[in-house]
Amino acid sequence: MEDSSYVTYERPNKDDLTRVHEYYLSHLLLLEQASPIALKAIIKRELDACGKDIAPLLNENKDSFKTKYEAEYLQLFQDDTVNSDFDSWDTLQLCAAIFFLFKSDLADQEVKAIQCIYDLRKDIENVESASLTYNTYKEKQRLLREQLLELVKLIGDHDKLYCKRMMYSFEPTSIHLSEQLKGSLKQTNDVKTHLKIAMKENVVTQVDINNGEDNEIWPTNDHIFTEELQNKNVYINDSVVLRCKLNSPASETVVWKKDSLPVEMTDNIVFMGNHCTHWLAITHASLEDTGNYACVCGNISTSANLTVKDERLILVFDLPLKSKATENENIALECGVNMRTSEPVWRHDGEEIQSCSRYLIQVEGTKHILTIKNVTFQDEGEYTVDFGEVSSKTTVIIQGETDVLHRIQLTEELFQNWVRSVLALKYLKVGLEEFSDKVVQEHHDDILSSLQGTCNTCTEESLLPHKHDQCPHQNKQKCLCSKNQKQKSGKMCPNGFCGKCHDRIVCDHRFRDPLLANTDVRKWSSDPWSVATCFINTTGYKDKQSAKDVDCSGLLSLFINNVFIEMMLGEDIINGKSDAFSQAREARNDIHHSSNYEMSENQLDNFINLFREVLEIKDKHGNMPLKDEPGVQEALRSLDVVQQNQIEINFEHEMEQLRAHGMYKLEEKCQAGKEQLELKLQQMEQQLKDKDNELQLKLNLQSSGEKKLEGIY
Ligand SMILES: [Zn+2]
Ligand SMILES: [Zn+2]
Repeated sequence: MEDSSYVTYERPNKDDLTRVHEYYLSHLLLLEQASPIALKAIIKRELDACGKDIAPLLNENKDSFKTKYEAEYLQLFQDDTVNSDFDSWDTLQLCAAIFFLFKSDLADQEVKAIQCIYDLRKDIENVESASLTYNTYKEKQRLLREQLLELVKLIGDHDKLYCKRMMYSFEPTSIHLSEQLKGSLKQTNDVKTHLKIAMKENVVTQVDINNGEDNEIWPTNDHIFTEELQNKNVYINDSVVLRCKLNSPASETVVWKKDSLPVEMTDNIVFMGNHCTHWLAITHASLEDTGNYACVCGNISTSANLTVKDERLILVFDLPLKSKATENENIALECGVNMRTSEPVWRHDGEEIQSCSRYLIQVEGTKHILTIKNVTFQDEGEYTVDFGEVSSKTTVIIQGETDVLHRIQLTEELFQNWVRSVLALKYLKVGLEEFSDKVVQEHHDDILSSLQGTCNTCTEESLLPHKHDQCPHQNKQKCLCSKNQKQKSGKMCPNGFCGKCHDRIVCDHRFRDPLLANTDVRKWSSDPWSVATCFINTTGYKDKQSAKDVDCSGLLSLFINNVFIEMMLGEDIINGKSDAFSQAREARNDIHHSSNYEMSENQLDNFINLFREVLEIKDKHGNMPLKDEPGVQEALRSLDVVQQNQIEINFEHEMEQLRAHGMYKLEEKCQAGKEQLELKLQQMEQQLKDKDNELQLKLNLQSSGEKKLEGIY
């Protein structure tokens, strides 16, 4: 391999064997510092290819992103809006987004490399006391470095070198830890904290990764621009300087080009070079100087646009002097200039505004718009838009909504609806419980009767279920036959049971992708639910022993993913996408992730109808296979009661009920929602009081004014 020089493994001497923390950090830094360079470069490359931005791409498909990568979804999406600054994403988030958006566009070896990086990054969460033995380290690093080198093959030169430079910098020998730091690493198993400590304490001593001047470790024949040319806009007769910088002095001459043709030196245009830095200076810019300038050094170059304009920017129309809006409305502040310009800076009372879910900054040709959504009283104040040479300002005044009493009532109703949806979810789950326990038992009986023997010794870490070329898994890389082969710890089941049971689970899984993190392999022959939980596609269900212990989402997953259970219901009932069970699971996620604990009557109605549809599911002959199962009729009746709002919600009682049915997360949410509602109502009541006082004051003034008038006449 061309880059094998980067992978240097010597036999460790005695001293090296104590470097367990350095090995760990070396591996972690490679995963969280070097890998993102390559992953981001791939995202940029793919975005360029499709000409889109990352945020709308993810937003368009956020529901299915949520289903596939729930953990990453929860980190990337706040209030249903994606954090579009992917420079701030970590390795897991980058991998998940690439897979979700671009997997089919990537080369096979890239897919393999990214999967490997993703798996290694997940693995490191399980490392204890922030240490890796030399042998584990060596094995993981070989894999990671190989895959990283694979990944940088198809990205730009700059990122490629940057990434490789990091790979070189994070050798364990470059990492130095004091005893005190080792102590603080061991205090927690949280990988992110370890990374923070490593970055904050500068444990990598030999190389400052941000400093392009340090060229000792550069391959001598590779140059890169550590500072690229920047785009410039100037006016006629202004002077302008374009500047770039190489990582080390160039052995050959640097060539300047304009629109691909060499630039001639004249009285007006000069270029200079000093050590690593190169300049092109124009004394008096003219319109003809507009163009794309490039600085070329051997086979690398950097370029930027110079625009020379013949008029100055002026405001065509200002922001309005005053802008009024009513609480909770959106307000748009607009102004216009005479030419297209780069984006101006918007400020609220002097503080710069960043585009986010509440502030939308838009440019429509020469018109500039700031939209503030759902304004509150905190949004009052002075707003300015600053174009550099000119600026415009306005004062925003927010008026309170008049009918506070009405709002109090509405807020309470919307919250009640949300609580009703939680109850409906509980009844759906209760309705499915007995049937779930029955079919889980039947599935288990069926597996046992088709296999011989039992086993309680194999584990997820040891089991080699089958020969690699006989793998039924949808993704061989994720299958134990790949994982445990690599670990070299794998062996076939000595009792001839676990491998076959594993393959049966894979084959009975709709997507041939069971989640083994949810199970204990040793219990497969004795515990039906240890098999069932493999069919739930989010973690947290290990050791659950009955349907009662599993939440609604888990039960729905079981029905969606287990084709044996589908067959017990009837053919073609579930397709994993648009069937009633999948839709109900989505509804459950909507309820679960509701950030303001509010729900319209209409949506609640739709959800309850959907839950009823699950319990009254029809096969292709029109029969309802669940209808006569124990508990289902009662659940349907309870759904009716919730739908017709004939219930009195008794908070303590309902919370107990949720707990009893294993719906702990919703119980927590309900409590949070209740507290938030109380706070909101308090605020509204205060507002109401203020308004009353205001009114009283006005009345007093009026009557005292009248008295004065009476005195005059
Ligand atoms: Zn396999
Ligand atoms: Zn076994």
